[in-house]
Amino acid sequence: MFKKILIANRGEIAVRIIRACKEMGIKTVAIFSEIDRKALHVRLSDEAYLVGPPQAVQSYLNMEKIIEVAKGSGAEAIHPGYGFFAENYEFVKRVQSEGLIFIGPPAEAVKLLGDKVAARKTMKGSGVPIVPGTEVEIGSDQEGISIAEKVGLPILIKAVGGGGGKGMRIVREKSELKGALRAASSEAKSAFADPRIYIEKYLERPRHVEIQILADKFGNVIHLGERECSIQRRHQKVVEESPSPVVDEKMRKAMGEAAVTATRASGYVNAGTIEFLVDSDRNFYFLESNTRLQVEHPVTEMVTGVDLAKEQLRIASGSKLSYRQEDIRWKGSAIECRIYAEDPENNFLPSTGVVHSYWEPSGPGIRVDSGLYEGSEVSLFYDPLISKLLAWGESRGEAIDRMKRALSEYRISGVATTIPFHLRVMENLKFQKGEIHTHFIEEEFEKEKLLEPEDKDELLKAVAVFSALLDHQEKKDIKLVLSKTKSNESPWKIAGRKMGLRRHKM
Ligand code: ADP
Repeated sequence: MFKKILIANRGEIAVRIIRACKEMGIKTVAIFSEIDRKALHVRLSDEAYLVGPPQAVQSYLNMEKIIEVAKGSGAEAIHPGYGFFAENYEFVKRVQSEGLIFIGPPAEAVKLLGDKVAARKTMKGSGVPIVPGTEVEIGSDQEGISIAEKVGLPILIKAVGGGGGKGMRIVREKSELKGALRAASSEAKSAFADPRIYIEKYLERPRHVEIQILADKFGNVIHLGERECSIQRRHQKVVEESPSPVVDEKMRKAMGEAAVTATRASGYVNAGTIEFLVDSDRNFYFLESNTRLQVEHPVTEMVTGVDLAKEQLRIASGSKLSYRQEDIRWKGSAIECRIYAEDPENNFLPSTGVVHSYWEPSGPGIRVDSGLYEGSEVSLFYDPLISKLLAWGESRGEAIDRMKRALSEYRISGVATTIPFHLRVMENLKFQKGEIHTHFIEEEFEKEKLLEPEDKDELLKAVAVFSALLDHQEKKDIKLVLSKTKSNESPWKIAGRKMGLRRHKM
């Protein structure tokens, strides 16, 4: 086993990995940007090194500096967490060429599965059902039009190098096709530096159900069952759970076997996720693979008792899997709410500031993975995911009741959060019955105007640039400008008051 590893990440996921290392007697090396000097992952690690200014490109994405710190500190391996370098082929290659171990899959598997068309081709070739569509990128407008006609409208135009739910375009009318193909390609080019696009059949109101897998270097591959991730806002997950209300034992076995086949077909090693879309007849289709530890991995940990972060470390150090397929048993039900520093009362605009008071829920069945503490700072430089609240129960109903209880206990003041939003989801009768799909939020909360992710990204970038130049008072003023006055009280505010939640007012 490793003696010391570097964690090339920040926030809750860096903390999560440090915790696994501590329990295994592995020393940890943290990296941090200037704005993260006092961050929790820095405080909890054995050693920590400054790698650059707040901007991620110059710090958490500064490959040279990270490699230098890893080698200088005597770390044997690098855990990338999720985001940043987690699915970056160049980074994996570089780590290996420096004689270090990448705690994740082989570079070739990262490359193959990062190319959505190549992944679709591989899956189809090995008999894994894929969402109908193309296994080649679109070469010309004419080709795009004839493929769309063959697949049948509505279709979804997607980016070959896409991710984060961005750059997808639904086309319902033939007349829109040509324009949509061109716009999608130029969007893909600017967002992912790769103009290649492809076409999938657009499934109406599907469920997103994914399978967690573990694979070692000796050819052993197992699955740990499913996570239902259909509660999404603009194609991004906000609530996840395991088991899925729609998956029974037979379906779990079929999906698990497909995921194991997909894993073998791509030469994958370590922990990974095979994502599927499920239609209303419970047919499942391969969507994509995520070659990393997922944000939502704790729901699987809570129902199986397997520590996925520890398994990642064991696999990377060359050990065999600690479990055989028949050792995996599922008990009860677990739900995760992603707590974002975003203001649901205000179009989910990002919220920043110092956390003035902080009070985590606990008690039976509750787990909190967060990077927060009293006095910590939430900035615009990084992902707004600040905490993950998890609840486990003997039944799904008990997990929901515990989640509601925990959400109402959770106090974060100084920044607005999505806690009131989650409470409304938990109280929704359709959610409670498990009647969910990927358009659930849009349909159930349609009164609330939701910001397009592209718009928000632009806004975020602009504010981050200004924010870097401003002092504390000026940042507060920006927050005031961003918050618009509303004459009618929003449902989020009402939900917040109902649970006794008081937001810190500036
Ligand atoms: P990304 O890699 O950007 O996250 P995915 O391919 O994983 O993109 O898709 C993200 C989400 O977009 C899915 O969970 C689903 O809600 C929606 N989606 C993707 N492909 C389709 C499709 N063919 N039909 C309907 N919805 C889709």
